[in-house]
Amino acid sequence: MARSACWEDNTMPRDIQASLRSPKGYEVARHALDLMQAHQVWPTVRNFELWVNYVGEGASPLAAEIDRLLAAGEAITESLGEALAAQYLPEARLNGDILEAGDALSKELQSVTAAIESAQRSSEEYGQELATASERLGSEHAGPVKAVVEGLTNATRKVQGENAVLESQLAETTAELGRLRESLDQVRRDAMTDGLTNLTNRKAFDERLEQICERADAEGEAVTLAIIDIDHFKNFNDAWGHQIGDQVLRYVASVIGRLGATPRVAARYGGEEFAIIFPAESGRTAMAVLEEIRTEVSSRALKRRSTNEDLGAITVSAGYAERLAGESTMNLVERADAALYASKHAGRNRTTAATPVAAVAAA
Ligand code: GH3
Ligand code: MG
Ligand code: MG
Repeated sequence: MARSACWEDNTMPRDIQASLRSPKGYEVARHALDLMQAHQVWPTVRNFELWVNYVGEGASPLAAEIDRLLAAGEAITESLGEALAAQYLPEARLNGDILEAGDALSKELQSVTAAIESAQRSSEEYGQELATASERLGSEHAGPVKAVVEGLTNATRKVQGENAVLESQLAETTAELGRLRESLDQVRRDAMTDGLTNLTNRKAFDERLEQICERADAEGEAVTLAIIDIDHFKNFNDAWGHQIGDQVLRYVASVIGRLGATPRVAARYGGEEFAIIFPAESGRTAMAVLEEIRTEVSSRALKRRSTNEDLGAITVSAGYAERLAGESTMNLVERADAALYASKHAGRNRTTAATPVAAVAAA
């Protein structure tokens, strides 16, 4: 018997009102309703009270009588229910209190009633009823919920879509930034580089010289500056043309660039003039490098590519100055220039060290 299986522990209070108001009230009510449904007892308020008592009271005269009737296979009809209530339930129980106690369960009761009534209809009617209910729910309840869910789904889809767009835009922007950075690096390199010779251009040279001299002051380091000029280059151009002149310029630049490589700074200072900054290097070192350049350039037998004609010897003159403590870049350049002038004056194809005296005086 379901009753004894569920309630043999007798933990339910004997008072039905209390049991229905207790936290276990719904369990008692559901159990009662389950049994009523199982034994096809019509869910009236009176029958409900009977079965709640049956479930909640444990061993009682009412329970014993119901057990007996059920064991005998008796149908608990409406009239039998009335008889049982009249015999076993005190009249006081059938007052407003018990109805009030079950008030919270009335909705449950109604739904069971509706379910039973619904089950009694034909499947066609039931289907129709469901369709109608579904339609009604669709318009009154499910509609708004559906709209919210659809709204959320759409919003999620939209956000996902936007995220995908943003992601691809981000990837595109990152790639674009990479390209831009490369372009900017190239522009910066171009802005610092002489187009014909690929050496540092004059503007960048000026900046580098300032930086290097500032650092030399801070570190107490030496700086040596050299200026190199191609000898009689006007004559060369006049003899062989400007284009071959350019090739010679590039050749001389390549030698200067190689021997004046980083950390040295090799620059095209002007037309056929070059400069090399020797950071943290003495005039003696610069002298050796300049002599190497001069020797290499002058020893090379230049030939015209197309005709293999001998272009004659190319020579360079150089002057260098080792920076005096705190000396301005302008003064340093002037002294190196004066040393170059001295080389020219002395016959060209040579290297001259600047005197430590002020370049202005030497010029
Ligand atoms: P010096 O030995 O006294 O330096 O004589 P020079 O002829 O080299 O000097 P000058 O200053 O009289 O002439 C410089 C020449 O350098 C003039 C110009 O034709 C040439 N020159 C300057 N820039 C370029 C260039 O970019 N390409 C070519 N091909 N020639 C150049
Ligand atoms: Mg020259
Ligand atoms: Mg010159």
